[in-house]
Amino acid sequence: MQAAESGVLATSRQLPALHSRVPVGKGSKLPQLSAVGAESRKAWYVLAAGLCAKGCGSQWRRRTTLRAVLQQEAPLQTRERRSERGKVLPNHDAFPPPPKVPTTWWQLLHHLLFFGLGLWTVLFEPSWVPDWKLTFFMYLYGDFMSALLHRTFDHEECLKVPALDFVAYGFQMHHAWPMESTRGVGLYRLFCDTVRIQWILLVCFAALSNHTLLAAQILYLKLLFGAYGSAVGHFYAHFPEGTRPFAVRVLQRLHLLLPPQHHAVHHREPYNENLTSVSGLTDFIVNPLLKDCPFLPALLTLLGLSMFDIRLIEGLYTGLF
Ligand SMILES: [Zn+2]
Ligand SMILES: [Zn+2]
Repeated sequence: MQAAESGVLATSRQLPALHSRVPVGKGSKLPQLSAVGAESRKAWYVLAAGLCAKGCGSQWRRRTTLRAVLQQEAPLQTRERRSERGKVLPNHDAFPPPPKVPTTWWQLLHHLLFFGLGLWTVLFEPSWVPDWKLTFFMYLYGDFMSALLHRTFDHEECLKVPALDFVAYGFQMHHAWPMESTRGVGLYRLFCDTVRIQWILLVCFAALSNHTLLAAQILYLKLLFGAYGSAVGHFYAHFPEGTRPFAVRVLQRLHLLLPPQHHAVHHREPYNENLTSVSGLTDFIVNPLLKDCPFLPALLTLLGLSMFDIRLIEGLYTGLF
């Protein structure tokens, strides 16, 4: 604030001095022009032109001086505002703006394999494509899981847990820099951010799930909606009205993709409502359950479901359908 205040003081201190240099022309009464000859009229014109030029020159000098003062102070004021903006947690240092992190070839390979497998299945093994009931259930489950993950990593305690701290940092830095950490980094970067967690889920699947077609379908839909769907939903929820593609606007209006107004509720302190990132459809269940959920129960539920949800859903699905 000191820098900003000194800028204001410097500007206001200079204003009277600058103002006094601007001619106001008070009390200068022009004589009747009809009473003087052509010579004296010419002299008056020259005098008037001179006064105008002097006035314009003063105005220009005044503006130039003001601009110089403001330009000197602008970087300081910007730095001050940036550090204030990054301070979203009272007991934690201000978050700096997100850095530009380059993507890697193995992240690209992961995406190509994932979507390549989906396309190959549709084209050559259509009988492996999951039915609409499982797809719709997993779409809702992806929304729910995005909220559980969000609730866990939005807890301040999570910033002190080794191996989870850097993920929590990303989630909580987003509260300070919502646009910069979504639209600013691009959708592909957000896809790449999900690759590590997708690998953890793949390891859980390999170690703990049945290796059946149904289990593989559940896994694929879990990654499709939970990882990629969540990135798309959250990315476009931070886009201004006029810049969203038509299809995205339609899906957001239908609540099939996270609507910006719905997600905006989450960006109010204490950041514990409307935690979903895919569609926001499950927030009416999630808000009462997770809004005030402490860190440890949220973390344990997240770990338990991440490990055993495919088995649970498989059992539920085969029992029900
Ligand atoms: Zn959050
Ligand atoms: Zn957000």
